[in-house]
Formats: sequence, structure tokens, C-alpha cells
Amino acid sequence: MTDIKSLTFDALAEILAAEGCESYRTAQVFRWLYKDRVADFSEMTNLSAKLRERLADRFFISRPEILRSQVSSDGETAKLLYGFADGNAVETVLMKYKHGSTVCISTQAGCRMGCRFCASTKRGLKRNLTVSEMLDQIIFTERQFCVKISNVVLMGTGEPLDNFDNVTAFIAMATDERCLGLSVRGISLSTCGLVERIRQLREMRLGLTLSVSLHAPNDEIRRRIMPVAAKYKMSDLLAEVKEYADYTKRRVAIEYTLIKGINDSDENARELASKLRGIMAHVNLIPLNPSKECEWERPSPARMRAFLNALEREHISATVRRELGTDIDAACGQLRLRYDNEKERADA
Ligand code: SAH
Repeated sequence: MTDIKSLTFDALAEILAAEGCESYRTAQVFRWLYKDRVADFSEMTNLSAKLRERLADRFFISRPEILRSQVSSDGETAKLLYGFADGNAVETVLMKYKHGSTVCISTQAGCRMGCRFCASTKRGLKRNLTVSEMLDQIIFTERQFCVKISNVVLMGTGEPLDNFDNVTAFIAMATDERCLGLSVRGISLSTCGLVERIRQLREMRLGLTLSVSLHAPNDEIRRRIMPVAAKYKMSDLLAEVKEYADYTKRRVAIEYTLIKGINDSDENARELASKLRGIMAHVNLIPLNPSKECEWERPSPARMRAFLNALEREHISATVRRELGTDIDAACGQLRLRYDNEKERADA
């Protein structure tokens, strides 16, 4: 059985044409799947009974189970735990802003990048998510909370560029008018810095907003924090970031998680500023979110302010990221933690 929501419009059109269907059928099926969002082929009432049966024999319409739904105490953030048929589960975070809703989706079950401070990677990679599993995180989050999502960030569990083919196919579907019809500018992808993949993404000319998790002012500190830094030199990463920003003519977001005593000194800020000079970038400072497995702490509010000021003195644009959803473990680096802990207890 083929997962119909993992097929692009052209891929489905080709299959239906080979089956002798009229060419307008693909548009009809897409409408049922993505506008009406039916759960079953039998509901596609403008198709003949025979065609509906043939579709049902050949394809299935995915539908993840919502294993848990939590809303933060301020009502601004919600977190859903989606379970898939093979027993894997991922988290999706909905953030409601005045100007529209943003969803943060996961791209892999688990992660193999091993960043020291991140809870999502502690149990390694389980598997890549499929195109439909990424689309469904949008579709079923909209349904669950009766919202229309305008922005998507690929910043949940997983390294999106480590699941390159599915992620780029997902972006093609999400931005296709006949599918979700999101604006490509409303989609941003966050990566720990797989340099050749960023280059590939640029060469595809999708125009996606890019965020790069840098977290350090030099290779030495970066290697202490992120194993991926052993593979890519920061100078190569930043050269590619510059290329990417020059091509989109928009700033790349540099994610920088502040960790007490590791990367938070004024000197670190000045070194970071010197590395970012000449690059269209904006630095997002993220206070480290605590996790049980990691002994590191966030700096004091005064130290964070000093770090921000030191960057600004060097004329680097920067902000401290607003914290959302920490009370439901929905903040950066906290995803899946609670689920994993519960699962471990249950397994024991
Ligand atoms: N793999 C991608 C996207 C997922 S992580 C990436 O590395 O960018 C999303 C962001 O949260 C990254 O910037 C990541 O470094 C940050 N993050 C992870 N754990 C964190 C923690 N404990 N506290 C603060 N930020 C964290």
C-alpha cells in the first residue's frame, strides 16, 4: 500500500494516468485530501464508486494518533505527542502569536547529531519521518486546536538536513497551492550545520528561511558542545551561511544557546561578532533549557544581558529569544524528554 500523502501532485498524476484516469482526477483527489481533509476514500463523492475502490486498494490515507495534548499555563503554547503505526512518536509545538500561528515540527524520530545539551538526541536516531508524517503534524494540529497555521519551523526533534529528500519533498508539498499552500517565506529550517546540505538547499533555490545552530565563537568551544563540529570547520560553515544569505537577500538566523561558563563571556561575544562580520545574520540568544542528562546551566540574566550588549557594541543584531512553553517541556531542546523518561520508567 502506498502512502498517498507522501506523493507530490505530479507523482500521483503519473500513477493515475497509468491507470487510465482522466487528468482532472488528481486535482479532485488532492482537494479531498488537503482542503476537505477526508479520512477515507469512500468520502470522495465526486469520484466513481469503482475509482474510489481502486484507490482504497492501492493507497492509504495516513492519520497519526494524538497520544497527548498539553497547553501551557498562559495558553500561548501547546504541545502534541503524535504516535505513528510503528510505535514511534514525535512532538509538535504550536505557538500562538498575534499575527498568526506557528507550528514547530519534528523531522526525525530521535536524532543522531548528539549535541551535548539537547534532550532530543539522547536516545539516538530511531528513523526519518516520511513526507506525510511531517504534513500531518500541520494538518492535525490545525484540526486539534481549530487554528490556521501560517508559519512552520523545522526545529523540533531531529536534524532536517539529515532527512534531506523527505524534508525537501515536504517543503514542495507544503508550499504547493493544491496542497497546504503555505508561503515559502513562512517556512524556516534550522540546522546544526551540515555544510554540503546547506549548499544543496541553496542550489535548489527554494528561498527558505535558514537558521543555523552555531552556539560557539570558535571551533574549539563548538567541538565541546556539538559532535558535528568535528566534521565541519566553522569557517566553512560561515562561508556557506554568507552564500546562503547573499542568495536569499535575507538574514540567516544564528542560534546561540548560552551556557554558563562555556560560551557566555564578553570575550566569546566579541569573537562571535568578529566571525559574523560581513554576513547578513541575526543572532538569536537562547538561554539554555535545563535537562536532567546535562550538567550545564544557563547564565544569570545579568550575564545574558552583558553578552547581548557586547554583541550590540560590535554592531551585531541580536535578541534574546522569548521563552515559550517551558512549563510543558516544549522549549528548545526539551522535546521528547518527558516522553522518553516515562517510557524508560515503563520499560524498567
Ligand atoms: N537539528 C536542528 C533543529 C532542532 S534543535 C538544529 O540543530 O538546529 C532547535 C534549536 O534548539 C537548536 O538551535 C538547538 O541547538 C536548540 N537547543 C537544543 N537543546 C537546547 C537546550 N537544552 N536549550 C536551549 N536550546 C536548545
